[in-house]
Order: sequence, then C-alpha cells, then structure tokens
Amino acid sequence: MKVFHLSAECYPVAKVGGLADVVGALPKYQNMAGLQAAVVMPYYNRKFVQENVFDIVFQGATLLGTRRLYFEILKEQTDKLGFELYLVKIPGLLDREEIYSYPDETEQFIAFQLAFLDWISYSQQSPDIIHCHDHHSGLVPFLLQHSKLYTRLANITTIFTIHNGQYHGAFGWDKLSYLPEIDLTKTGLLDWAGGINPLATAVKCCWRYTAVSPTYLRELSISSNGLEYLFYIERAKGSGIINGIDTEVWNPEKDPMITSKFSIKQITKGKQANKEALCTRFSLAPELPLISFIGRLVVEKGADLLAAAMEQSINEHPGKVNFLILGAGDKETEIELLQLKAYYPEQCNVVIGYDEALAHLIYAGSDFLLMPSRVEPCGLNQLYALRYGTMPLVRSTGGLKDTVIDFGDEGGYGIRYDNTSVEDICEAVNRALVLFDNTKQLQALRKIMMTLDFSWDRSAAEYNDLYKSLNPII
Ligand code: ADP
Repeated sequence: MKVFHLSAECYPVAKVGGLADVVGALPKYQNMAGLQAAVVMPYYNRKFVQENVFDIVFQGATLLGTRRLYFEILKEQTDKLGFELYLVKIPGLLDREEIYSYPDETEQFIAFQLAFLDWISYSQQSPDIIHCHDHHSGLVPFLLQHSKLYTRLANITTIFTIHNGQYHGAFGWDKLSYLPEIDLTKTGLLDWAGGINPLATAVKCCWRYTAVSPTYLRELSISSNGLEYLFYIERAKGSGIINGIDTEVWNPEKDPMITSKFSIKQITKGKQANKEALCTRFSLAPELPLISFIGRLVVEKGADLLAAAMEQSINEHPGKVNFLILGAGDKETEIELLQLKAYYPEQCNVVIGYDEALAHLIYAGSDFLLMPSRVEPCGLNQLYALRYGTMPLVRSTGGLKDTVIDFGDEGGYGIRYDNTSVEDICEAVNRALVLFDNTKQLQALRKIMMTLDFSWDRSAAEYNDLYKSLNPII
C-alpha cells in the first residue's frame, strides 16, 4: 500500500511542535509494518536541507491565479529517515527559512498542494492513500474530487488528521481564483462562515478524519474555533488515534542529548546525574524538587497562568521548590516569566527560545513536568516525560486525559487536575511536593512510568487498520 503523508512539518527537517514529531515517526513505523509510506512537505532553507543531498525528481509549473510558479520536487537521496522524503521547492515562495508566519502563508500552502497534485498527476503516480495533516494540506481531498485537472486521481482514498483544530488556514473568497478550475456547484464544500476554510473543507471531503486522541475528537464538537457544528454533523467519519512516540529518538538509554544515559535499573542514579547537570547550568539547587515546563508559550498551553502559579507556589513553599521553563511564544508571557526569574533567581529559571537538546535534558533531569493546557489534542511532552521517569502534572483535557492516570487512582502514575486556574495548578504542585518527600513511592511510580508503552507500533497499527478498512483489496 503506497501512502503519501502531506505535512507542513516533519522532524528533523523542520519542527515547530508535535505535528513534526508525528510525521517524522509514523511513516517509519508504517514502513516497518510493510507499507510504502513517504512524506511530502514544503522546502525550507534549514539545517537538514543544507546538510543532506537531494535529487531533483520532477520539475514542473503550476498556476496560482495568474501567477505561473515553477517548482521542483526534491527527494532525499538515502531515505535516511526510514521513509522517502520529498520537498516541494518553489523559488520565492517555498524556499524560505521559517515554517509559518509569512504574510503570504495562504499562497504558500495552496501552491504546495497544487505542486504536489500536479507532480503525481503528470508523473502518472497512483498512491493508494493520501494522508493530509492539518489545514496546510486540507484542500487536497476537495481538489482530487472536484477539479477537472485531477480527474484521474479522484478515487484515491484520503485521510485527514487533525493535530490542532484551532487553526483553520481560512481565507477570503477573493482568493478562489488561486484554485484550478473546479466544479462551481461544489463551492459550498469550501465554505465555512463566509470564507474558504481548508480545515472545514478537509473534514467535509476526506474519506475519513482522525483526531490525535479520542477525548480530543469529542472535544472538537464542543470547542474548535467555530467548527463545532461541523464536527458534530460529520462525527460518523471521525475516529481518535493517540500519537505514539519515536522510541529510537526518545530513549534514555541511548539519548546523546542528555548528560547521563540510564535504563530503568539505574533510574535513581541516572535521573540524579541529569538533574545535577541541569541545576548546575541553571543555578538551581539539585536537592529540591524540580518542576519544569516545555512548550509554546501560548494561551492554548495555559502558559499565561505559569508566572502567577509559580509565584504563588514559591511563596507557599519558600526554598522548597524549583521551576524551570523552556519555551517561546506570546511576548507578554515571555516578559512575565523573565520578570519572575529576575525576582526569584534561586527558585526559578526561564529560557526563552527553542532548544531541542535542552528539551531532552529537561525531560531526563526534572522530577515533574507541568502541562496546564487549556487545549491539548494529544500532547507528546507527557509521553516523553514518562519515558524518562518524570511525572507529568497535567490538566485533564484532550490527550492528557487519555494518557495520564492520576497516581491516586488504580494503576496511576501521574497527577491530574480539572480546572484551568492558578489555584488548581498550585494544588497539583502541593501534591507533587508531598510525593517528592515520599521517596519510596516516587521511585516505585517512576518505574511504572518507564515501563509504559506509548511506542508507535500500536498507533501505526491503528492507522493501518483504518487504511485497510477503506481499501480492503490491497
Ligand atoms: P504542540 O501543540 O506544540 O504541537 P506537542 O506536545 O504535541 O505540542 O509537541 C510539542 C513538541 O515540541 C515536543 O517535542 C516538545 O518537546 C517540543 N517543544 C516545544 N517547545 C519547545 C522548545 N521551546 N524547545 C524545544 N522543544 C520544544
């Protein structure tokens, strides 16, 4: 079964968040299970592209309105990621450094989708599945079925995975001319709330859609930035599949990015060595419980609550708790956190920025990982934390609810709380501090965490079952 994954991100080529981790791992595990999965993404002028060798496998031109765009499809020569990686390069549009935030983002991602479709159309390829991820490739299921240009491809099965339902990629009808000739009786499929909405279009036109956790699938019909009713009426097409983690990249026994590698047998010694390295680097006391946060500093992640919650906890437990934050995002939150660091230099430290290696060390060296998310489609951080014996302290939402069981419940290994509030976070921190003093119980729980299986094998098998249910003869 030949599968093309279409995505704006893919680790290690270009990553902003969990989407990259998923698209960088799922195809690898699908290939191990006997599929032929490949990734197609925009070309970004970044380290991975500069350091690896690519072949030009196709050259063509596509029309974006009246603009003729020449494009190239580049393939990484060695398949070193465990799958074929194709990059769509369009000079002046898809050859920049950043992944998002350009003013012509709409043009970028429409051009990406058109170039992909032109490529497979002109090179006579017939994949069995086109698996689109988030709104950046959300128009593909529509174009396959309702554009005369791609009639030959109209029967290809399309799957759409929602990693983040808050972002829709919506744009105005004035840009309809960017699309190739389409069946104008079908424009209603593009529409949501008076504009062209690629996320809504994908949900309407794909054969099946998935959300990255069963709880998030349900939450989409309660809160999805205006698409709630759509998710409600289309619910028969949806299913929830929890993400896995790439256990080759996230492996405390082999991780080159941490100070001291450790297995479950050396868990106490191993974690302590990483914690000491981390605390020395950030001027924190290694004997105190260390609670960390890694992620985008945005309201979705509850990052706006961090400074107030940390200040309250530090005041409630003077000299008894340390915090470490790694992230970037809303400027106001960044400033608040840096002010807190200046005020309490011995109890908290804050790194504003994106640092993959430091993230690994934080997962390995922290005692607890705080995730006060308002919305968390799946969440990978808690899964990485568990793999490194670090207890997740999470708000009960989306994938956090599906993957973290409170240690007070049967079979539990984490801390969960319900409300998006400073008080609830502080209460969860209080529970963490009490547990920290109960060394024996914490050690036993760490062992449970490290034996949990969130590998891709299980999740990849669920995607494969979904593909097969739609293509029973392959
Ligand atoms: P998101 O909503 O951001 O996609 P996920 O939990 O699905 O959230 O994935 C977040 C991924 O991004 C994890 O691999 C996490 O370690 C990484 N990450 C987020 N922010 C940073 C940062 N500032 N530095 C390093 N890694 C980060």
